[in-house]
Amino acid sequence: MNDDPGSATSAPFLHEKAPAADPIDLSSGQILEPLPEIARAAVRRMLDSPRVAAYAPGTGATELRSAVAHHYRLRTGTAVDAEHITITAGGRHGLFAAIAAVARDGEILVPAPYWSHYPTVVQLAGATAVAVPGDPEHGLLVDPERLDAARTRRTRAVLVNSPVNPSGAGYDEERMRSLRGWAADRDIRLIIDDIYWAYGPDVDNRVQPGPHEVVIGGASKVYALAGLRVGWVWADPRLTAEVREIVEHTTGPVSGPAQAAAAAVLRHENDAVGTSAATGDGVARRAAELATQRAVALEAMSAVPYLKPLPAAGGIYLCLDASQALARRLLGADDDQQLCRALRREAGVGLRAGSTFGMPGHLRLCVAEPHDVLRTAARRLTSCLTAAAELSLTTVGEA
Ligand code: PMP
Repeated sequence: MNDDPGSATSAPFLHEKAPAADPIDLSSGQILEPLPEIARAAVRRMLDSPRVAAYAPGTGATELRSAVAHHYRLRTGTAVDAEHITITAGGRHGLFAAIAAVARDGEILVPAPYWSHYPTVVQLAGATAVAVPGDPEHGLLVDPERLDAARTRRTRAVLVNSPVNPSGAGYDEERMRSLRGWAADRDIRLIIDDIYWAYGPDVDNRVQPGPHEVVIGGASKVYALAGLRVGWVWADPRLTAEVREIVEHTTGPVSGPAQAAAAAVLRHENDAVGTSAATGDGVARRAAELATQRAVALEAMSAVPYLKPLPAAGGIYLCLDASQALARRLLGADDDQQLCRALRREAGVGLRAGSTFGMPGHLRLCVAEPHDVLRTAARRLTSCLTAAAELSLTTVGEA
């Protein structure tokens, strides 16, 4: 699933050009920040505790589950029982466990474009992913008609991610209401991948587990703690029991120090909600920074010839339509994977190929980078593609 930067088909005419010595990697999706002092202090306390090397509680540390429950309480305005939260090894293991519990031996509708890992996570969880093309007129999002067209007797669930990785489009309350109504009428479960919840204008604050909904969250993106590997599943009691069984027999408990750090950060964020600290610290600051980074990336990439950025309302990515570059076979590329490899090699800019996201002919970049890095990447792409276009014109002219 991951792009392999190593095995590009070489474009011979560019060989004498050395790849950039300092590659800019915009291919992954993480927000890099130092661990805040409150989290470091929590880890230090854990290290000094006699239980540091013991198994953490199987369902997750009580203080972390309480902090997650409190987060959803603040967001939804409803009572949330920490007993319905299960801590997992990152959001992706939460997805795995929920999918295995809900849809093993059945089908899951996956709106396209989608996070590149979904097809494999679904497959490993014993289900079959059925891609549902999003509506080009509406941000490539799906609606009940599109879901109905893909539904079969084996459909158990729909995997809804908002804002969407990679497009950044979000399901607003009205769209979510129609999906929820559709799912309830057909006894199908929405698996809500809530990992980017704060990063866009269309925050879904109606998330609520029940017979037709389960919520997957995590500390990686919104709390910038990807390396800690802390995620969770918020589910109704029956599904929670099944999810816990799967977690117990696959990863077991998540590392205690990682949970302590995540709990400290979530508690801090929960306490800041509704106070002036909420805008200066953590989640709100990151959301504001990302909005600016999306705008900077959009402006910078708009100047790159043969690639056309698709404005993103939210999320941490920007997609580029590469159809013009591909139509001209720039850098000898016949598809987005080849173009991606060639741009990494020739321009020193690492992107991700859209075909791995169900979006062939596109490239994806992560915007969670300093503005000058985004602008330098755009300049490199411009000079590389301009040179490639000139060469291809010369080659065509000579032929
Ligand atoms: N869902 C989506 C849409 C993602 O993009 C990611 C990570 N890129 C995850 C889930 C999983 O995040 P993690 O396992 O790091 O918590």
